[in-house]
Parts: sequence; structure tokens; C-alpha cells
Amino acid sequence: MNFLVTGGAGFIGSHLCERLIKDGHEVVCLDNFFTGAKNNIVHLMGQPRFELLRHDVTEPILVEVDWIFNLACPASPIHYQYNPVKTTKVSVLGALHALGLAKRVRARVLQASTSEVYGDPDMHPQKEEYWGNVNPIGRRSCYDEGKRVAETLFFDYLRQNKVDVKVVRIFNTYGPRMRPDDGRVVSNFIVQAIRGEDITIYGDGAQTRSFCYIDDLVEGMIRMMDYETGEHPRQHDYTKPHLSGFPGPVNLGNPFEVPVVELARKVIRLTGSASKLVFERLPEDDPRKRCPDISKAREFLHWEPKVAIDEGLRKTIDYFRDSNDK
Ligand code: NAD
Ligand code: UDP
Repeated sequence: MNFLVTGGAGFIGSHLCERLIKDGHEVVCLDNFFTGAKNNIVHLMGQPRFELLRHDVTEPILVEVDWIFNLACPASPIHYQYNPVKTTKVSVLGALHALGLAKRVRARVLQASTSEVYGDPDMHPQKEEYWGNVNPIGRRSCYDEGKRVAETLFFDYLRQNKVDVKVVRIFNTYGPRMRPDDGRVVSNFIVQAIRGEDITIYGDGAQTRSFCYIDDLVEGMIRMMDYETGEHPRQHDYTKPHLSGFPGPVNLGNPFEVPVVELARKVIRLTGSASKLVFERLPEDDPRKRCPDISKAREFLHWEPKVAIDEGLRKTIDYFRDSNDK
């Protein structure tokens, strides 16, 4: 198969490209390098089945492919809040351009959506049927609402144009190739612990997240992309999407929920660091808890995470130690 991966030079995208190449596919990796890096994909660049395209998804995309993974979008709060207007554009125009391309070339297209569509949830754990509790005018809104509109576009293209869409809602994912300056909690804590700096807990650290190791997530994304009922997708009755080719949305994440302060203690233990915990102001609209209900992924995709948090953290710590030594 011929794949397009937008945001392919980022953290998740680079692992996905690597896996697709390993599985024998052709990959066009499209990226504007806002948060991605050539270093993430340099090991793929010499391979004949891998092609790199520098492009911004706010502009139309023209390329002949069979399937599209749409990942382009800054994902960490400091990066998506750096230019919030652009973040909304990337989500919305990026989705429109991925869908427009899918319609033209009759490609299947998967959207990397997010648990942020649930906002600060009042249903716990979060099921796909939950509509969310999102502030439309806060600092996280450019990302949350951008991703919500992208989901709307995906389902409207499905209903209106019978485009073969897939939506996965990704919960916090971590692993090698996160940027050390990314600002996300796992990379921050590991980098701080390795350098012996204070570990910055925002708020009292009682807020929870559920952390999925990158290899598990990539497996889930590929299973979702591959999943079909056997019928040609254009023959499905998408007025009843949940009965058809399973466009989703489906939660992909690890249901093991950890308070942020406990994550910090784990990182200190696993790194053997002497770092101290310091408590700082909680950012605006920071969700108090987050944990996926993954019954749908289990039922449809026979998927669940395999990598336990301690094992995943060890691999990630090794990666950051190696990069720190270079
Ligand atoms: P990342 O920042 O490492 O990757 C995003 C990639 O998109 C980068 O390579 C960046 O350069 C590229 N990009 C940004 N704007 C672009 C543009 N205008 N045109 C082309 N490329 C552009 O983040 P990630 O963690 O790998 O996230 C990938 C996707 O998964 C994002 O859509 C994100 O919303 C989603 N997601 C990630 C997580 C997570 O925990 N990592 C959770 C939920 C959803
Ligand atoms: N967080 C923290 N210290 C940090 C970075 C993040 O306590 O140095 C907290 C943050 O406030 C949030 C959680 O960790 O409650 C996860 O933050 P992240 O930015 O990784 O992801 P998101 O909030 O988007 O789930």
C-alpha cells in the first residue's frame, strides 16, 4: 500500500512511518517541521520506499496514495498555544485538505483526534458516546475545538461524500523521540530527573492522566486503519455509522490511571534521581482526570496496551539518557 502520513516527522508520526516501512509499505511523510525533526526520520531517509515532503497542511495536498494518516498538528500545550490561530487552522484546514485528497483519490483517511475532545470530563472513564465538557474560549480551545471541528468534518465527509474515514481519539502517549523541550509531563519529568533539577508539578498533582506507550498506540492506529467489515466502505449505510465499517471514533489509550504526583515519584525511583518535587500554578482549564474506556477498541480491534508504565518509562528514560550523553 501507498501511505501518506501528515505530521510524519513528529513523535507519533515517525514511529508510525517506521512501522509502515517495516511492514513493507510505501510511505510519503509530509511535515513542515514546526515541532517535528529530521532526526526522527533520518534513519528512513535513505530507503527507496520512503519519501519526505516538506509541506504545510494549511495548503492543499496533491499526492497519489491509497491511505492517509492525518497527524499534522502541534500536540503539546506550549506548542499549540504558541500560535493558537495557526493551531485551529492546522486542525481544520489540515482535516479539510486530507479529506479533500481522500475524496479525490478515493483513499481511506484516519484522523488523529484526541482525548481533549472530552475537555475536563464529567464522565469517568471517558466513553466515545460522551460529548465532552470543553471550554470554547480558553487557552486550550484552539486545540480542543480545532480537533472537534476536524471530527465533525470527518463525519460530514463520510455522510455527504461517502469518504472512508476513521477517527481515533488518542490519550496521552509517551516514548522515545518526544522532544526534551516539549513541555509534556513525561518528557519534562524525565529530563528534570536526569539533570537533577526540581520536578515541576502543576497544581497539587492530584490530577490524573493515563499513559500509553508509543508502540501500543501505533499498533492500535494500524489496526483501526486496517479494520473493515468486508463490504466496500462506499456501500455502507453511514447514517448508522456504528453498525457499518466502524469509522469510530475509538479511544486509544492505556486505562491505567496515574495521578501526576505519583508519576513524578515513579520517574524519580526509576532514574535514581535526587530531584525534589516543586509545586507550581496549575495551567488554565487543565483537565482534573482523564482515563479511556477502551471497550470499543477491545471489541472491534482486539486491541489493548501491552506495555506497563514502568517498562515504558524505563525505555523512555534510556532514550533520554542516550540523547543527553550525545
Ligand atoms: P508532534 O508535535 O511530535 O507531531 C506533530 C507533527 O506535525 C510535527 O512533526 C509537526 O512538525 C507537524 N506539523 C505541525 N503543524 C504542521 C503543519 N501546519 N503542516 C505540516 N506538518 C505540521 O506531536 P505528536 O505527539 O506526535 O502528535 C501527533 C498527532 O497525534 C497530533 O495530531 C496530536 O494532536 C495527536 N495526539 C497526540 C497525543 C500524544 O499524547 N502524543 C495525544 C492525543 C492526540
Ligand atoms: N504537568 C505537570 N508538570 C509538567 C508538565 C505537565 O504537572 O512539567 C501536568 C499538567 O498540568 C497536566 C498533566 O501533567 O495536568 C499532563 O500534562 P501534558 O501537557 O503532558 O498533557 P495534557 O495536559 O495535554 O494531557
